[in-house]
Amino acid sequence: MTVDTLKNRKPLTPPKHTHKVLLHSCCAPCSGEVMEAMTASGIEYAIFFYNPNIHPREEYEIRKEENIRYAREHNIEFIDADYDVDNWFERVQGLEYEPERGLRCTVCFDMRFERTALYAHEHGFDTFTSSLGISRWKDMQQINDSGIRAASRYDDLTYWTYNWRRQGGAQRMLDISKRENFYQQEYCGCIYSLRDTNRRRRERGRGPIEIGVKFYGINDKDDFV
Ligand code: SF4
Repeated sequence: MTVDTLKNRKPLTPPKHTHKVLLHSCCAPCSGEVMEAMTASGIEYAIFFYNPNIHPREEYEIRKEENIRYAREHNIEFIDADYDVDNWFERVQGLEYEPERGLRCTVCFDMRFERTALYAHEHGFDTFTSSLGISRWKDMQQINDSGIRAASRYDDLTYWTYNWRRQGGAQRMLDISKRENFYQQEYCGCIYSLRDTNRRRRERGRGPIEIGVKFYGINDKDDFV
């Protein structure tokens, strides 16, 4: 692993009084750059993997294992939270046909961030943030709103709204993914995003997504992230 030093980056300024950051990670490609950015700035952090939205289980395990492998390389603590998929389906009930970036996604972010905020509060983290916003497919404001809402449940917690795409972050995310040959997911994560992505592929004459076959730098395409 080669971390870009601060010679090549501007130092990050976390929120005031930040002692330790809990990074909610959605996957290795999105969190790779966020991790390297924090490492280069000397910020102490741990990774929190809580993504019960990911379907099917096989895809969930692949994304998680990639993230664990990279965290080990960095010697960063990795907290593996529940795959409480039944609760996820319960929360998004009635929102099955919402488009991406719609209300179902707000509920999905809220659920993941509420759990992250609780863990942060109970384990001495004063700040949390997420790798979710680095993807060009996501609405940064929607993610920030969910993060701020979750953090506001605790007096001692701040959500760090930094835009990880800035200062070359979006390009470095791709560079790191290729360098590390990360698994390349081709849909956001839930069963509904899988359904909708497959429908779009069908309309373009493409076959359905095959799980576990695409890796950055090997047989990658810039379809997602
Ligand atoms: S599309 Fe993505 S963010 Fe939206 S509900 Fe599905 S997994 Fe969550």
